[in-house]
Amino acid sequence: MMETITLNNGVKMPLLGYGVYLVDPSVTERCVLDALSVGYRSLDTAQYYENEAMVGSAVHKSGVPRDEIFITSKLCLSRATYARAKENVKGSLKRMGLDYLDLMLIHWPMGNDGEIWQAFEDLVREGCLRSIGVSNFYPSTYDALVRNASIVPAVNQIETHVFYQQRPMIAHMAKYGTAVESWGPLAEGMNGIFTNPVLTSIGAAHGKTAAQVALRFLLQQGIIVIPKSVRRERMIENAAIFDFALSEEEMAQVRSLDTGHNLEGWPSDALRYDPRVQ
Ligand code: NAD
Repeated sequence: MMETITLNNGVKMPLLGYGVYLVDPSVTERCVLDALSVGYRSLDTAQYYENEAMVGSAVHKSGVPRDEIFITSKLCLSRATYARAKENVKGSLKRMGLDYLDLMLIHWPMGNDGEIWQAFEDLVREGCLRSIGVSNFYPSTYDALVRNASIVPAVNQIETHVFYQQRPMIAHMAKYGTAVESWGPLAEGMNGIFTNPVLTSIGAAHGKTAAQVALRFLLQQGIIVIPKSVRRERMIENAAIFDFALSEEEMAQVRSLDTGHNLEGWPSDALRYDPRVQ
């Protein structure tokens, strides 16, 4: 569970984390305490989720030393300026009661990403952010950001799962040394993922569930995963993915599930590709 990836700035990030999108603020503290107690050491929140404060309070109550937990949040800010972006990140730190974040992402292209990025870069220099990255950036928006950047994004968090495997984006990010982090690693529970015959039959051969096979498929490609569940037993299940490996043949079978398009049609510039020609 403590396996890490070394980001392009030398910072180590756990390959497995716990995401709290749509975790109600009233239960977030309990869920994050559960996740930490079963061994998760990476947490993924966002300003947009309105539960940053509860993630922060769970971190403080857990008794786990701050430097053993990798904490990510994401900025959401329209009409951004350099000054407003800086102030906005400091708002996240304040809500969470933290001196620094391990990773701050631009949640999706906000329209004034150059100014936001300059603010992020300065916050790295000031010690408020250890790493910076983006989310839902595809080649046009990603390349435009990097053109004027002095720090290359450490991470791009994008929808990635067995039904939308992101092979062209993975290749594109590799050119920059930007790690791919999957959001929706369990396809948000859609498309019958938990009863998919390919995933369940591979799982049966390893004594694992379809969910564990789907997560392992990503992990085995060096993709960071942050599955979400409010149930402690599923948190444990989703973390038990480091004690087995998929064979090349099994990886190929899962590769055949790729549809080449995202589940919900969002974000609008998500790549569509023909998985048969990848
Ligand atoms: P997910 O793919 O993690 O799926 C979560 C769903 O699967 C939930 O309904 C849960 O009940 C169910 N589930 C989880 N484990 C299960 C198991 N073992 N067996 C059966 N059902 C199980 O979806 P997600 O929460 O959208 O994505 C994970 C995280 O990614 C989020 O919590 C959030 O932190 C992040 N995220 C980021 C963005 C972004 O735009 N950057 C968008 C969506 C999510």
